[in-house]
Amino acid sequence: MDYHAILEHVLADIEPEIGCGRVADYIPALRSADPDRFGMAVADVDGPVTGVGDWEAPFSMQSVSKVFALALVIAADGEQVWQRVGREPSGNPFNSLVQLEHERGIPRNPFINAGALVVTDRLLSVTGDARGAMLDFLRAESGNPAVDFDPVVANSEAEHGARNAALGYFMASHDNVENPVPQVLEHYFWQCAIAMSCRDLALAGCFLARHGVRADGSRLLTRSDAKRVNAIMLTCGTYDAAGEFAYRVGLPGKSGVGGGILAIVPGRCALAVWSPGLDARGNSVAGVAALDRFTTRTGWSVF
Ligand code: GLN
Repeated sequence: MDYHAILEHVLADIEPEIGCGRVADYIPALRSADPDRFGMAVADVDGPVTGVGDWEAPFSMQSVSKVFALALVIAADGEQVWQRVGREPSGNPFNSLVQLEHERGIPRNPFINAGALVVTDRLLSVTGDARGAMLDFLRAESGNPAVDFDPVVANSEAEHGARNAALGYFMASHDNVENPVPQVLEHYFWQCAIAMSCRDLALAGCFLARHGVRADGSRLLTRSDAKRVNAIMLTCGTYDAAGEFAYRVGLPGKSGVGGGILAIVPGRCALAVWSPGLDARGNSVAGVAALDRFTTRTGWSVF
C-alpha cells in the first residue's frame, strides 16, 4: 500500500479547507496557533510510518489524550471505571455541565471533560502519577523520548480552568472523585498539555489498530477491550459531532481543540491529522475533511 501517494492526493484534495475555521481561544497559549498549518501521518500496524505537510511538527494534543487515559486505566484497573462513567454519546459540548446534574454526577462518557476527569482520577489512584504514566506510554509507543509536556499550555489551562474545576467539584459533591479535586485537575491539565506530532500520535495510537498490542509486541488491552475503546471513539470521540463524523469518515476518531484527530482503521493503520482551525463543535475543519477524503479514496471504514 503506497500510503504516501494517498496522503499526497488527500492533501491536494483538501488544500482549500486549510485555514478554515477558528483557532481555539479559551486559553492564550492556544490562541497563537497558526491556522495555516496542516499535517497528516499514517502508521501501519506492521511499523512503517509516513506523512505529509507538517507531520513532524509538535502540537497540543488536548482531548486526544482522553483515549490514552481510558486505555491505561482499563489496562491497570479492568472494568472498575464503568461504575463511575457511562458509555453513551452526550449530544452536548465537550465541557457541558447540564447532564451531570440529571445523572447524579455520573458523566455520560469518558471522552467529554467530565468523564475524562473521572478517568484521570482513577488513573491517579492506580498509578500514583496519571500524567507521568501517560507520558511514559506515549514516549514508548512513538519511540520518541522528546515527547513532552508544554508547561506554558498546562499553566494556561490551570489559570483559565474554572469550568473544569466546576465539573470536578460537582462530581465530588456526588462522591464521584476519589482524590483531591485540585490534584485531579492538575493531572488532567498536564495530560492535555502534552505536545506531539502527527508522526508520534499515529505511532502511539497504533495499539488500537493492532487490537490492543503495543509496539514492542506486548499486550496493553485484550482484543475485546481494544474493540470497546474503538467503539467509544466512534460514538463519543468527536463530542456532539460524533454522528456527523461517523457519517463522513466511518472510523473511530478522537479530536482535541489543539486541532489534532487520531483515527483508527482496525487491523490496518492509525491516522493522525492536525490543523488548528476548528468548527463550532471543536473539531479540526481540515482534519475531518482529510480523514473523509482518506476513507473515501481507500474505501476503508468500519462499515
Ligand atoms: N484542555 C481542554 C479542556 O479541558 C480540552 C478540551 C478539548 O480538547 N476538547 O477544556
